[in-house]
Amino acid sequence: MKLTFLGTGTSHGIPIIGCSCAVCKSTDPKNKRRRCSLYVVTEGRHLVFDTPPDFRDQVLSFGVERVDAVFLTHPHADHIFGFDDVRRFSALQDQHIPVFGSEETIRQMRIKFDYVDQGYNFESVPRVQFTEQTGPVRIGEAIVTPLPVAHGNDTIYGYLVEGDGKRIGYIPDCNAIPDETHALLANMDVMILDGLRPQPHPTHFTIEESVEQLARIGARKSYLTHLTHNSEHHDLQARLGNAVTIPWDGLETVL
Ligand SMILES: [Zn+2]
Ligand SMILES: [Zn+2]
Ligand SMILES: [Zn+2]
Repeated sequence: MKLTFLGTGTSHGIPIIGCSCAVCKSTDPKNKRRRCSLYVVTEGRHLVFDTPPDFRDQVLSFGVERVDAVFLTHPHADHIFGFDDVRRFSALQDQHIPVFGSEETIRQMRIKFDYVDQGYNFESVPRVQFTEQTGPVRIGEAIVTPLPVAHGNDTIYGYLVEGDGKRIGYIPDCNAIPDETHALLANMDVMILDGLRPQPHPTHFTIEESVEQLARIGARKSYLTHLTHNSEHHDLQARLGNAVTIPWDGLETVL
């Protein structure tokens, strides 16, 4: 199984437009963060988790060569508004690409992208198959299970991916994990969790809360994501030590 962090930043991305703080002005590539997305290759299948506004750049920068299925965590702008570029993969692969999300996510996708999935068979629009997902789905031999979590007043999805004998969890936006979801997160090889910033936020874990949750989950390797310009990459990594890894855009992990 191979994971590629396509984006690790909060909704603004880093640098933030018009901000002159030290992190936004940093020339270190590890302090430049696109909006959150994860690419997982397992069991020979290529899975994308969210299509943020940076999706085209992420595909071109980090070697996304194929997309067998798209999983959407929720329909916030920072997670879906690169969706149109899925059309290159439906054209290259000459197929409808399955797109999974909760009932509410798929309802909003059908409104926001009302020009797709209507039987068109040309390259200007994504050819996709929207599917409301309420339980595990198989993509080849890989199994992808929704992980319901709280994101402010909404219940949205993270995902559990099982393939090649490994188990990884991805929850980029979250401020509470129900016990039923925690129960699905046993014996994890990798856990990637929202750790927005040090200061409290109504819809995201703070870094401290996220580190606590990651300790409870106890994956063999833990990562934070959805980071803001409040955290300089190396400072944060030094502060957290070995328990949690701070990823950067383009980071690949082979399991
Ligand atoms: Zn987000
Ligand atoms: Zn800044
Ligand atoms: Zn969100």
